[in-house]
Amino acid sequence: MKTSLIYKTAVLVAVVGPLAATVYAISTLWQKAINATDLTLLLVLYSLVALGVTVGYHRMLTHRSFSPHPVVKFIFLVLGSMALEGPALEWAATHIKHHSCSDKEGDPHSPVHGFFHAHIGWMFKDRMADPQKYCKHLMKDPIVVFVSNTFFLWVVLSLVIPFAIGGWSGLLWGGLVRIFLTHHVTWSVNSVCHTFGRRDFETTDESRNEWLVGLLSFGEGWHNNHHAFPRSAFHGLRWWQFDCSGYLIWLMEKVGLVKDVYRISPEQMQKRRDRGTGAEVATSPAISPESEPVGIGL
Ligand SMILES: [Zn+2]
Ligand SMILES: [Zn+2]
Repeated sequence: MKTSLIYKTAVLVAVVGPLAATVYAISTLWQKAINATDLTLLLVLYSLVALGVTVGYHRMLTHRSFSPHPVVKFIFLVLGSMALEGPALEWAATHIKHHSCSDKEGDPHSPVHGFFHAHIGWMFKDRMADPQKYCKHLMKDPIVVFVSNTFFLWVVLSLVIPFAIGGWSGLLWGGLVRIFLTHHVTWSVNSVCHTFGRRDFETTDESRNEWLVGLLSFGEGWHNNHHAFPRSAFHGLRWWQFDCSGYLIWLMEKVGLVKDVYRISPEQMQKRRDRGTGAEVATSPAISPESEPVGIGL
């Protein structure tokens, strides 16, 4: 009986001891690698800057999915600039070009020319489009032109803020790691969402709905929906298609910060299914280089 108790105690120590030590070791490693301030900086700045790209650069500026209050427009364009994905005007021009010839000759970043090219390689080939050609109407907007011309100021500010709050490790996690994550999630829309996933609508390109990219990119992964209805403020078109950017636009509309939110009715969706391919441009006056500016919202 006495031996048995000693034996059980030894087993308990042998099993629980290393487990507790392992948890302790991981926690010390964790403390060394990243602290609570760094993690908070990473999460908050990632969220704000990613929304700057999705709500600001993409849905507001490029596709005119809603008309913002001028202050809202300025803030979202500044946040989008902080992603280090190029000035607002160049970003919009390149994206309009993508929609105008998706997965065809001239598309700046189609996986038809290789997955790596679509993800990152295209940027090394000077493929940013000319705003004069693709979004001349945006060049008449003083807010857009100002934020676009001061692009590097906002990039530097996006590094100074985490440094001021968290020092060098704050700069690392809230600045560089955050930029790395935003880049690859955005680029995944170009590469992954034109290669993997479901096609709910027939479109003239290879666009797909990919739920994981949808989650990480705050809704942009429902990319087949987006190519079918480029101007829709909501890329998630079913209740289960998580679209954080769409929810934010809905909220801003409710409190009066944005108006003229472009929605797709169930009838339009059904019509689009029945029609099949070949009608993308017709559903989005925003993507034609020659189209009149609609809903800029100055
Ligand atoms: Zn696309
Ligand atoms: Zn788009």
